[in-house]
Amino acid sequence: MDIILTGDRPTGRLHLGHYVGSLKRRVEMQNSGEYDKIFIMIADAQALTDNADNINKVRSNISEVALDYLACGLSPDKATIFIQSQVPELCELSFYYMNLVTVSRLQRNPTVKNEIQLRGFKQSIPVGFFTYPISQAADITAFKANLVPVGEDQLPMIEQTREIVRSFNTLYQNVLVEPNAILPSNSICSRLPGLDGAAKMSKSLGNCIYLADGSNDIKKKVQSMYTDPTHLRVEDPGHTENNPVFVYLDAFCKDEHFAAFLPEYPNLDELKAHYQRGGLGDGKVKKFLNEILQNELRPIREKREVLANDVGAIFEMLKNGSEKAQAVAAQTLDEVKTAMGINYFR
Ligand code: ATP
Ligand code: MG
Repeated sequence: MDIILTGDRPTGRLHLGHYVGSLKRRVEMQNSGEYDKIFIMIADAQALTDNADNINKVRSNISEVALDYLACGLSPDKATIFIQSQVPELCELSFYYMNLVTVSRLQRNPTVKNEIQLRGFKQSIPVGFFTYPISQAADITAFKANLVPVGEDQLPMIEQTREIVRSFNTLYQNVLVEPNAILPSNSICSRLPGLDGAAKMSKSLGNCIYLADGSNDIKKKVQSMYTDPTHLRVEDPGHTENNPVFVYLDAFCKDEHFAAFLPEYPNLDELKAHYQRGGLGDGKVKKFLNEILQNELRPIREKREVLANDVGAIFEMLKNGSEKAQAVAAQTLDEVKTAMGINYFR
C-alpha cells in the first residue's frame, strides 16, 4: 500500500519554491495512478502556532492555497484535499505522542531552531510552535502515510515522526507506519532560494514569486533579483553558483527554452560559461529567466483566475475532503487507543 500525505501552511499564497519543491511532483504522482491514496492537507492549525494573533491571515489563505492546488492540477477526484483543524482526531493523537518525545529532542530539531531564530521568538516561543513536529507526526501517521513529498527543510520532521512511530510500536502494538520523505529529484528544487538570495524562498520572509502573480509582477521581481555582487560591469567575470538567477535557471530551464527565447546559446552550460568568462550582462540573463517563468506560470494563473470566480465551490470541495479525512483519522485513533489500552468502554 502506498499512501501519500503532504501539505502546506496557509500563511500566504503558494510560491515557486512550493511549485518546484513539492507541488509539481505531487501532481505527477497523482496522475501516475501508482499510489493507493493521496492526502493533501492545508495545515491551518500548524499555521496558527506562530500566527495566533493573526487568525485572519490564516483564514483568508485557506482558499488561496486550495486555488493554487487546483490551478497546478491537483484534483479532488484523485486526492483528498482537507483542512487540518477540521480533523480533531489529529489533536488527540498529538496529545498521546507528546509523551513519547523529550523536550531536549525538540530543542535539537534544526528546522525548529532555525525557524525560531527567523521569527525572532527568543525566549517567548509558543509551546504550540515548539511542539509542531509532534503534531506533524500525528498528521502523517493518522493516514498511515508511508510517503511524504517535501522540501529539504522538512527532513528533521520526518525523522521525528519515524522516532515516534518506533517508540509507539515498541511500547504498545504495531499500529503506526514509518514514513519516508520524498525529495525532488533535482536537488536545487529541494530548497529554492529567495529573490533576495536568502537560503529559502518563504512566505514568511516575503522574498517570493507567487503562482498567482500577474505577468508585470513577475517581470519586476525578476528584474530586481539579487545576483552576483562581484559582477559589476558586463565585462567582469561572474559567478553562477549561489547566484539565484542561475539557480532558478537550473530549476526551470530546458534546452527548448533556448530555441524559443535565446537562440544564441544552445544550452545552459554555454550560457553559464559566458557569464563566468565575462561579457554577459545580468539584464540579458534575467530577461531570459523572465520568459521562462512567464511561460510556466501563465497557464496556472489563467486556470486560477477562472476557479477564483467560485470560492463557494472551493469550500464545498474542502468540506467533502475534510469529512473523508476525518473518517480515516478516526479509524487510526481508535486503533491507537486500543493499542494503548485506553478504549475503556469496549
Ligand atoms: P512559512 O514561511 O509560513 O513556513 P513556507 O514558504 O516555508 O511557509 P510551508 O507551507 O512551510 O511554506 O511549506 C510547504 C512545503 O513546501 C514543505 O514541503 C516545504 O519543504 C516546501 N517548501 C517551502 N519552501 C520551499 C522552497 N523555497 N524550496 C523548496 N521547497 C519548499
Ligand atoms: Mg515553512
